[in-house]
Amino acid sequence: MPSCEGMLGFGDRVKTVKERRALYIGRFQPYHKGHHAVIREIASEVDEIIICIGSAQHSHEIENPFTAGERYLMISKSLRAEGINNFYIVPILDVNWNAVWVSHVESLIPPVQVVYTNNPLTKRLFKERGYEVRTPMLFNRKSFSGSEVRRRMLCGENWEELVPPAVVEVIREISGVERLRELAKSDKEG
Ligand code: ATP
Ligand code: MG
Repeated sequence: MPSCEGMLGFGDRVKTVKERRALYIGRFQPYHKGHHAVIREIASEVDEIIICIGSAQHSHEIENPFTAGERYLMISKSLRAEGINNFYIVPILDVNWNAVWVSHVESLIPPVQVVYTNNPLTKRLFKERGYEVRTPMLFNRKSFSGSEVRRRMLCGENWEELVPPAVVEVIREISGVERLRELAKSDKEG
C-alpha cells in the first residue's frame, strides 16, 4: 500500500490556511455612507464579508420602502464601484423569534467566525452562540442613518449626499423617492 506521508499537494496546503469570514447585518433602507464606510473597512480586514439584508420581506412601507432585490443592487453596485469584490449578499426573512434567529441566519449563510454589529440585540444573540462579536465605529451617525435619508427624501432635502453615487442611480432608476412620497399619503387626502 503506497504511503501518503510527505505527499502534501498544493491543494492540501491551501486547505490548512483557514479563510476568515465576517458577517454584517442591516436592513439597508437604504444603503448609506455609514454602512459603506464600515463595510469597506471590514472587507479590507477579512478574506470575505457576508452581508445579510435583514427584514428581506419588507418593502413598500414608510420605514422599509425598498425591496430586498433593490437593496441588493444598491450594496453590490456601491462596493463594485470601489473595486471591492470579496463579498456575498444574502437576504434574510424575519422569523420574529429571537431565540432561533441566529440558527435561522446560520442556515442561510456560509460559515463565519466574526460578527460586526452595533445593534445590542444582534450582539447579544450572536455572543450567546459563541461568536466573536465586534462593534464597528459609527460614522457621522446623525446624518448617515436610514431614517435621516428617508426623512430628507420626504421633505425634498438633499438625501443624495448621504448615500454612495451608485445608490442615487438605483433609487432614480426605480423612482424610489416618488414611491416613498406616495406611501406617505393617506386615503383621507383629497
Ligand atoms: P434606520 O434608521 O432605518 O434604522 P440605520 O442607519 O440604523 O437605518 P440599519 O440598516 O438599521 O441602518 O443598520 C445596519 C447596521 O448599520 C446597524 O448595526 C447600525 O448600527 C449600523 N449603522 C447605521 N448607521 C451607521 C453609521 N453612520 N456608521 C456606522 N454604522 C452604522
Ligand atoms: Mg437601524
